[in-house]
Amino acid sequence: MDKESLRKEFSEKHPELYQVELFKEKGFIRKKCKRCGRYFWTLDKNREYCPNQPCSRYEFIKNPSGKKLDYVNMWDKIKNFFVENGHQYVRRYPVVARWRDDLYFTVASIIDFQRVEEGKIIFDFPANPLIVPQMSLRFNDIANVGLTGRHYTSFCMIGQHALANEKGYWKDRTIQLDFDLLTKRLGIPEEEIVFVEDVWLGYGAFGYSLEYFVKNLELGNAVFTEFEGSPSSYTRFSPPVVDMGAGLERFVWLSYGTPTSYEAVFGSILENLRKEIQIAIDEDFASSFYEIAGEMDFSEGATLESLYSKMNVPEDKIEEIMKLKDLFILLDHSRTLLFAMSDGQLPSNVGGGYNLRVVLRRMLDILKKRKWNVTIFDLMKLHAEYLKPMYPELSENIDRLKEVVEVEQQKYEKTLQTAEKILSSYKTKKLDISEAAKLYESNGISPEVLKENGFIDFDPSEVYNYVAGKHINPKTESVKPAFNPQGLPKTEQLYYDRSVTEFEAKVLKVENGYIILDRTAFYPRSGGQEPDHGFLNGVKVLDVIKISDVIGHKVENVSGFKEGETVIGKIDKKRREALMRHHTATHIINAAARAVLGPWVWQHSAFKEEDYARIDITHHSPITEEQLKAIELYANNIVQKNVRVEKLLMPRTVAESQFGFRIYQGGAVPGNTLRIIKIGDYDVEACGGTHCDWTGEIGLIKITNVDRIQDGVDRIEFVAGEAALKYMQRMYSAFQNLRKTLNAPDLDSIQISVAEKIKETENLKNKYEELLRKYAIAIGSHEKKNLVVLEDRTIKKDDAVIIGDTVANNLGKNFLWLNCDQNGCFFLIMVPKNMSKDVQEAIKVLTEKCKGSGGAKNNVGQGFARCDKESMKNILSSLLEKDSNV
Ligand SMILES: [Zn+2]
Ligand SMILES: [Zn+2]
Repeated sequence: MDKESLRKEFSEKHPELYQVELFKEKGFIRKKCKRCGRYFWTLDKNREYCPNQPCSRYEFIKNPSGKKLDYVNMWDKIKNFFVENGHQYVRRYPVVARWRDDLYFTVASIIDFQRVEEGKIIFDFPANPLIVPQMSLRFNDIANVGLTGRHYTSFCMIGQHALANEKGYWKDRTIQLDFDLLTKRLGIPEEEIVFVEDVWLGYGAFGYSLEYFVKNLELGNAVFTEFEGSPSSYTRFSPPVVDMGAGLERFVWLSYGTPTSYEAVFGSILENLRKEIQIAIDEDFASSFYEIAGEMDFSEGATLESLYSKMNVPEDKIEEIMKLKDLFILLDHSRTLLFAMSDGQLPSNVGGGYNLRVVLRRMLDILKKRKWNVTIFDLMKLHAEYLKPMYPELSENIDRLKEVVEVEQQKYEKTLQTAEKILSSYKTKKLDISEAAKLYESNGISPEVLKENGFIDFDPSEVYNYVAGKHINPKTESVKPAFNPQGLPKTEQLYYDRSVTEFEAKVLKVENGYIILDRTAFYPRSGGQEPDHGFLNGVKVLDVIKISDVIGHKVENVSGFKEGETVIGKIDKKRREALMRHHTATHIINAAARAVLGPWVWQHSAFKEEDYARIDITHHSPITEEQLKAIELYANNIVQKNVRVEKLLMPRTVAESQFGFRIYQGGAVPGNTLRIIKIGDYDVEACGGTHCDWTGEIGLIKITNVDRIQDGVDRIEFVAGEAALKYMQRMYSAFQNLRKTLNAPDLDSIQISVAEKIKETENLKNKYEELLRKYAIAIGSHEKKNLVVLEDRTIKKDDAVIIGDTVANNLGKNFLWLNCDQNGCFFLIMVPKNMSKDVQEAIKVLTEKCKGSGGAKNNVGQGFARCDKESMKNILSSLLEKDSNV
């Protein structure tokens, strides 16, 4: 069943589903829109059309409704209203949705309280009822930002949430509260309010909803989520959930009645900026522009050209409006960046970081074009200051973000330089959207630059829509499971008690080489930690895996195992201890990197083996040697302080509120109870791995390598404990051997000695090359023909290249080197630089006649041919001798 038929089905049940107490009490009338056929509730018996565009137009522009309140004060008013009415105020959740595997960003307030477990949605409310000012990020309408007057990439969703039980409430009270907020608290006349019936389909859950409008501006949508599953097959769940989401931006806009909502929302920031960069705007013209633009959808194909043709206006006025539009984009995008970066997301080429880079580069393009004397970081600071009463956390770390923005700016400048080079090779070619998107994604050439240089005819924003659409959903892959866990009980986990290294257990099943027991001390591979090894009844355990709480042991030979029998398990204690050290060390390195580099450092992924570990972290630049040393030192300090490693089991909501969302270093963790690993005040993570009890047990952490593995991600490889000591011993042996070979007394003299040897080799190489060139002149001048042939198997190809170069470019003759055995000949052909066409031809003829393969570049050709020496010489002689240039 689709949304339309569901709407029809719900609509037929309107007395039961939609007619809340308030409607009866106040005398709201249910009407069918004469234009689109949707049902709505109004106090105005003469009303014929629903308040949606295009059935109706905004009636609040220059004619606002209710008390005039700016962004922060409007929130304050709304918050107080709900708190006075029994709601708990909840601080916003991060805009980076670390607790969800299916989302990069928090797109709505309800996301805060949803956890996905095995494809099912679970609601987890920290209070009931509650109110939250949830900043939400959405990038699918990016083309509309600045142009329609109402679209944003970040907006504050006022979340009013309740569970319909004795503590919370259901439909009647929801609508009553929203109505009272509008009328009693904000002073909006009752008859201006219209409710529209709708349905809402969410992730695995859905319901019916009432959208509320004032003067035809949609303010909020109260969704009553009551059904689980899909519209064609669903059940009711209990208690149902109130999910009312309203746009704070809309409330403020309604109270100002300005042509665009940006003027109301950005308030004094916008006003001051306009004065500073001196944009003079014809207010009347701006009003009529945004009235028309507001009804268009630029992410669905509308273009500026189509807008201009509707308006028929002089060019200079358009240019002024475009300046204003650019200013709106800057303000929206910088606010989005501020929130996302504060919450730990860096701009990059992958995942959610990609969207940030898009908005950041778009801003840099605008600033470059407009030459306005303001930086992105200035704008972010202005927002943080303006929003301080509402979101004080934005001001806490803001100065650290300057570094990130500057690094991005340098990358952008570099990109512009490569752009010039790449574009000069395109000449006058016209590109389509996918080509433009490719240039943008792989070379960072922005569509604005393409447009300015005439490479594209369409609107640059279409390219952003195209790439944003490609980057919205992360991929999840499914693998065929090694055994089927169905019907088996959850395996009892003995591995969190490190004293248990031997245990008895019952065999529940033998399948596909795996033994499934009722209990086990074998840690299964998970969270980047490799599994325990050991023995079951003396048979070697090769691998241990976990599939939905059932643990399977892959053994060398299953023949001796029978279901129902008791077995004795014995884990490899030494391996386990080494894994524990590496795992705890991983958390420590993460904490150290964060302390040394900056708050944007998050674990990207990690891997822990018996004798090796690595952690990939998010950072804006390659880690320098100095930084690496500082990280190593900091990490070993934590080891030396012998800090307690606490393992706590906590309800998820308690852990989140106590430690914040930093606990999700390894991504989303399922379950209502989290296992928290806390290392003093250095690090707290939700983690299911095995850990030391004290950091001192690790002994030593030695970083062995660092690498930039992708844009925005650095890999740190390291060893801990005995593995670290063994690594140092290997280094020591290597050092000793080198010292003896070089006959050097100590480390410093080794370095000098090696530098000298390198220089010596370099000199020898030059002398050798000189000799080869002399040799080339000797054989070349001796040869009377135009083709000099060298067949000497003792001469290597690299040497042949030097000889050939001398023959071709100093003597102006053709050169052929052959290295033959019974199968055929390797060959190298070189001709004088101005004869390069001949080489192509020669290779073609040769490889055809001799069934070989080869290629040519400029005046050099090489390959392998299955002919004997003499035939090769004959073929090439006739080809290369005929076109003599001497
Ligand atoms: Zn309508
Ligand atoms: Zn961990």
